[in-house]
Amino acid sequence: MTLARRRIFGLVAAIALITALVGALSFPALERQYMRQQAAQDAVPLNLAAEGLRAALERYAPLPALIAERSELTRLLNNPNDPALINAVNEDLRQTAATVKASDVYLMDISGRTIAAASYREAGSYLGRNFDYQSYFTQALNGDLSSFSVYGTTTGERGYFYAAPVEDGERIVGVLAIKFNISAFESIWRGADSEFMVADRNDFVFMSSRPDWHFRAMRPLSDATLRLIAQNLQYPIDRIDLLPITSTPLNDDAQQVYIEGEPRESYVLTSLHLTDLDWTMSALSPRRPATLRALNTLLIVGLTALLALTALLAYLLKQARQAEALAKEQEAKRVLEAAVAERTADLQTALGDLERTQTDLIQAGKLSALGQMSAALSHEFNQPLAAVKSYADNAAEFLERDRLPEAQDNISRISKMADRMATISAHLRNFARRPQQATGPLLFNAVIQDALAVIEMRLTSEGGQVAYTPPEAEIWVVGGHVRLQQVIVNLINNALDAMEDQSQPVVTLTLADTTLLVRDTGPGIEPTKVRNIFDPFFTTKAPGKGLGLGLSISYNIVSDFGGTLSAANHPDGGAVFSVTLQPATVVEVAAQ
Ligand code: ADP
Repeated sequence: MTLARRRIFGLVAAIALITALVGALSFPALERQYMRQQAAQDAVPLNLAAEGLRAALERYAPLPALIAERSELTRLLNNPNDPALINAVNEDLRQTAATVKASDVYLMDISGRTIAAASYREAGSYLGRNFDYQSYFTQALNGDLSSFSVYGTTTGERGYFYAAPVEDGERIVGVLAIKFNISAFESIWRGADSEFMVADRNDFVFMSSRPDWHFRAMRPLSDATLRLIAQNLQYPIDRIDLLPITSTPLNDDAQQVYIEGEPRESYVLTSLHLTDLDWTMSALSPRRPATLRALNTLLIVGLTALLALTALLAYLLKQARQAEALAKEQEAKRVLEAAVAERTADLQTALGDLERTQTDLIQAGKLSALGQMSAALSHEFNQPLAAVKSYADNAAEFLERDRLPEAQDNISRISKMADRMATISAHLRNFARRPQQATGPLLFNAVIQDALAVIEMRLTSEGGQVAYTPPEAEIWVVGGHVRLQQVIVNLINNALDAMEDQSQPVVTLTLADTTLLVRDTGPGIEPTKVRNIFDPFFTTKAPGKGLGLGLSISYNIVSDFGGTLSAANHPDGGAVFSVTLQPATVVEVAAQ
């Protein structure tokens, strides 16, 4: 793995670790937040349950006062030993209890003794028992129209009691009490998602959807409180137990509680204080959903982070790959450039060598041309010079002897020799100058006809012939009339030279398209010389017969026209020279 990649993996691993750490650390706070939300949700059913409880309790509140108005009760209280009356009242109360679904309805005299009860026929009936210690009794005796308190009793059944004074005119003669079984109020809580419980001001739980929480104190009760309970027989003192709750507050109305003995469950506890009753009603819902939601959230966040990290990793790796590829490419480019530079240097060296060689060759070529030229010139000029010398010597001799006519003859020969040398000199000048003359459209055939006119004299004197059939079509080419004519004359002269030893030499001219072929039946060109015949001063002719400039000049002229001049040997013998010229365009011809 490259350093860059190792760094990327390190970075991504560090981010992943930090994310995991932050997740783990934020879990408790997240869980608490969800527990607070859960508490807020629980507050709704808690309020409903509290309202339901209050409404149920208030529904029965007017009952004791209504029943207490029955005259038979006053009568019985005034005649407590009347068996028929006792019977009648007992039965009356039993029917009333059955009607209102009360656990018991009973009548006490002012000493607190029960003299009639709906439960008179049942075992454990209140009949005969004294309740002067009960606060509902004392309150009713004090003239309160209805009062209620909740108490467990010695029977162990939790009851809710209402009481009202029984009056005889202005005088209170007894108390009528109704007891309802508390479990009737709890039954509506069953099936709810939360557990409910109601505790009094001492945090003593007397109602709950969980039967095992009944009669349990949420905090240790003080000795004084325990004494009071024992004295009032308010709760079955032997069953009083502690409900060991450890709580952590979540907000004002909610806390997270852990109940000892329920190891797997802790709860979110939402409380509502019922001010008028001085009770606290609570809803307990399992904490697990909040924990699961927190885990869920962390899982989603974690997965999202994982996804993002994977994407980041992929992105960074791609970048690294691209950077590596770029670096490789640049390295390859650098190597290539270095190689190219090296090769270029080599090539430049080679080129330099080549140029030097070329210069050397040109130099050598020039020297060789110069050599050939000097040889040709010395041939050309030596012979007439020698002749001039001997004619001059002779003329002097003849003059000395006064033989004037002979002297004159020799002097005129000297003049001819001078003319000849002037001709050679003009040839050379012409070759050297190569004047840049204008070119234009020409009728190829017309130039050929003019060249034939020039050659006519030689043909007549030597008995040679030119075979030429002009084509029917007009062939327009690019060139200069006089120069092209000079080329054609030169080629025909060369052909006649090559056939010198023939008695009936025939030069054949053929014009097709823009190419003119000049063919002879001479010995042809020696194969090894074909490459040299266009060189200046190359000649195979005897001194005085040729300077070796004709073909060279012709070649340059045709090149100046943009055409080509080439030489070959004909398969049937003899040489063939071909002149190919550029065709003149219609526009050029029209402009002519
Ligand atoms: P020159 O005619 O003065 O020698 P040219 O340049 O015209 O110079 O010709 C060069 C040489 O080419 C001639 O000496 C000859 O050897 C060869 N040559 C030219 N024309 C012909 C031909 N038709 N047949 C054979 N050889 C030729």
